[in-house]
Amino acid sequence: MEIYKGTKFKTLLTDYPNSYSEEVELLKYWCQFYSLFRLAPRHESGSFGNLSFRNSKNEIFITKTGLDLGSEISNEDFIKIENCDFEAFTLYANGKFNPSSESMLHYFIYEKRADVNAIFHGHNDSFCNKVIEKGFPETIEETPYGTIELVESVIPLINNDIFVIKNHGFVITAKSIETAGLTTKSILNLIQNTSL
Ligand SMILES: [Zn+2]
Repeated sequence: MEIYKGTKFKTLLTDYPNSYSEEVELLKYWCQFYSLFRLAPRHESGSFGNLSFRNSKNEIFITKTGLDLGSEISNEDFIKIENCDFEAFTLYANGKFNPSSESMLHYFIYEKRADVNAIFHGHNDSFCNKVIEKGFPETIEETPYGTIELVESVIPLINNDIFVIKNHGFVITAKSIETAGLTTKSILNLIQNTSL
């Protein structure tokens, strides 16, 4: 996988301070969990992997770009995605920082899956291998992170609750933050049982 170079799309940030959603408290726990279980390995300016949710007001919040998921996370580290213009490769967001470099992927899935309210994306080869072993799909071709090509590559897989982005990482989509977390744990348990 290529070296992390930050967000590739253009971001238009508005109206800081951003609105707060109480679900961020729960997401903070899972950010720490992802770091602890090496599902979001560190790079030079943060961690790979990004977590998001959609609340009952249809507001989408995602971790900021370059966030170390294992650090002490504040409410400002969650950015509200307002809109996404895929043709102009531009994201409209509300917050203090640029949102995750995979925000377009998250936004696209929320648009297409009305039943999905949480998306967890992590990087871990053992985890990806186990997901594939359990029969979940993988994208066919490797695509650069943070691009429209990557978003397009997942279209055929979008109705799966877990899938792998080839040579990159995994995506879990769920009806709630809790369910996304439990799905993560269930795959981790399978890995631990195999290694015993
Ligand atoms: Zn990634």
